This record gives sequence, structure tokens and C-alpha cells, in this order.
Amino acid sequence: MIVPFVDLQAQYKTIKTEVGVAIERVLETAAFVLGREVEAFEAAFAEYTNAQFCVGVNSGTAAIQLAVTACGIGAGDEVIVPANSFFATAEAVSTAGATPVFVDADSVSYTIDVGKIEAAITKRTRAIIPVHLYGQTADLDPIFEIAARHDLAIIEDAAQAHGSLYNNRKVGALGRAGCFSFYPGKNLGAYGEGGAVVTNDAEVARRVRLLRDHGSEQKYRHEIIGYNFRLEGIQAAVLAVKLKHLDCWNDLRRRHAARYAELLAGTSLALPREMPYARHVYHLYVVQTNNRDALHKTLTEAGIGTGIHYPTPIHLQPAYHSLKYKAGDFPTTERQAARVLSLPMYPELRDEQIAQVAEACMNAARAASA
Ligand SMILES: *Cc1c(COP(=O)(O)O)cnc(C)c1O
Repeated sequence: MIVPFVDLQAQYKTIKTEVGVAIERVLETAAFVLGREVEAFEAAFAEYTNAQFCVGVNSGTAAIQLAVTACGIGAGDEVIVPANSFFATAEAVSTAGATPVFVDADSVSYTIDVGKIEAAITKRTRAIIPVHLYGQTADLDPIFEIAARHDLAIIEDAAQAHGSLYNNRKVGALGRAGCFSFYPGKNLGAYGEGGAVVTNDAEVARRVRLLRDHGSEQKYRHEIIGYNFRLEGIQAAVLAVKLKHLDCWNDLRRRHAARYAELLAGTSLALPREMPYARHVYHLYVVQTNNRDALHKTLTEAGIGTGIHYPTPIHLQPAYHSLKYKAGDFPTTERQAARVLSLPMYPELRDEQIAQVAEACMNAARAASA
């Protein structure tokens, strides 16, 4: 039996009728770009995240770039980001004109090591972007405390954490702004590209709204230089349908994670740990082992899809060569990059598939110790 890493077709089968109706409505009304479908989804997602404002954009990367710009951050400014994240977290800081400054990851939670943030702050630092990595929130309270002491904005990268909780509060609107991606494989995914900024700051919301649409709120009147980062109607309509299922899907992900934990408890794999402050939504189920490449090979041969998130930390990417970081700068992130493997994780995963993955992991461990 093949176990894919994610199975978007399996999910589509469960919502085919609803999605069909929604897409047909967009075709009939021709609200293809921004418009009523986008407004309806923005209202629903603002309510879901307990945010006053939600502004839909065309990717998570655009959401981060515009949130940074809307906070008044640009050329000459520095923004603190974790070295362990998807490249886009730092890239969006750069395309906003600012410079990312990296901080190592925590060895247990994988999120930014809060004890190492202050050493990275300079006179130019303007913001911190905690990433709620793999579906688990960063430890925000100490980060808020540091931010208050140094007058920094907090911009959450919640691209992997739709519906995740920090001390029982939904992530997204806990800082100045929060950024979501609706890339198809995310916990809440469109059928194409999509993203959103949520915020309780009316001015930040207004600026993101301007920036996403050529600096214009009123047709052919352009207040500032902006971008074409608009969300499409079809994506918003799909997202509005899927949002109704998100909590149920996240519950299923948590159930699958608990099942993996049970079956893999006796192995040498380091399993994900849910931190006391977090409700993990398992965008990814990431394990660690010294024999990562062997485990990867065994699972691939058994027809099991896996991923590596992420094989090269951001500070060692060729694109950031000019920032002059080197191997050894962030030992925890670098060690994780060499040891992590993401197992299949999606709501529609079946118990027998989980059992098969666990069995293959145990076979790999036996082969490694033989
Ligand atoms: C997916 C992702 C992004 C970028 O989102 P896109 O919609 O792909 O542009 C940013 N940050 C993190 C942590 C992500 O996982």
C-alpha cells in the first residue's frame, strides 16, 4: 500500500459537492479578483482568528512582505527571524527592503530560541517574526516582553499554524500582524495560491489593503506605489468552504499524531513534543534521528512519502551568501537540518496507513542497529 506524504485528492473527495457549488457561484457572478467572495472569506477568517481585520493576498510570502512594509519597516532596518523556517520568512523581509537577522532554534520545540533573541538586537532592529513552525506556536510571551523592552513589532508567521493556539488563544492576531499562507498543502489550503494578513491595527490593515492593489482603494487613484498581490475569488470561495472543516481536520491531525506517538514510543526516534503553552495542529509530523538518510530510503522503498523541512537552514542558503553567515553559527538549527524527517500527515490518513509507516520506521531502526 502506498502512503503519500499528503493526499489532496482524498480531501477533495470529501468536499467535492460544496466546492463545486462555490466555484460555480464565482463563475456565474464573475467576481474573479477581490470582490464579494474575497470579502466574505476575509470576514469569516477574521472571525476565526479573533482579529478585527483580515486582508486577503495572493500568497503567504506576499502577506509577510506587506505586513513588514505596513509596519513601516524597510531599507536600513533589521528584522529578527528564526534560521529554521521555510526560506520565504526571510525572503519577504528582504523583498520589503529590510535585512533578516537570524536566531537559532530551540532544540525541543523547533521554534525560535527565545533565550537567543536579545543578543541579535541592534539599534536597527525593528521587528521580530516568530514562526509557528510545523503547526506549533513559538513561545510568544517572552518574545512580547523582549519586544516591549526594545520597542519592536511582532509579526507572526502563521503559515503552518491555522487554528493553532498559544495559551488558549488563536494565533495570527496576537502581535501587530499575523501572516497566513493558503498554499494547497497547508492546513487551510486553496486550490492555487493564497494568503492573508490578520491584525487588530486599523492602520496596518489599511496599508496592506492599499499595497496589495497598486496603492489604490478607489479605482484609478493611487495613493502609494504598491503591488498586484490580490487574492482571487475562486480561491476565496474554496477557502470559505474549507474553513468550516478546519477545526475538524486539525483534530484529525492531532489524533494521527497521538497514534504515531503511541506506535513509535519504543524507538530511538525523537518525536514532536507539544509544549505546555501550545495546541499543536501538526501541519507536519517531524521526527529526528541520527540515521535520517537511511530512514528516508527505507520509507521511500516501502512506498511511503516523506519530506525534509528543511535540508538547508536559511542562513546557509546561497541567496544569503552576502550576509556572511557560516556553518556553525546556529548549531541547533544545523543539527536539526541534518536529522529531521517529516512523516505522512494529513486529516484523511487512515489508521492502517499510520500503522504501516510506524512498522517501516521500526524496520529501519532494526536495520540500523544490526
Ligand atoms: C508556506 C510558508 C510561507 C510562504 O507561503 P506561500 O503561500 O507559499 O508564499 C511562509 N512561511 C512559512 C513558515 C511557510 O510554511
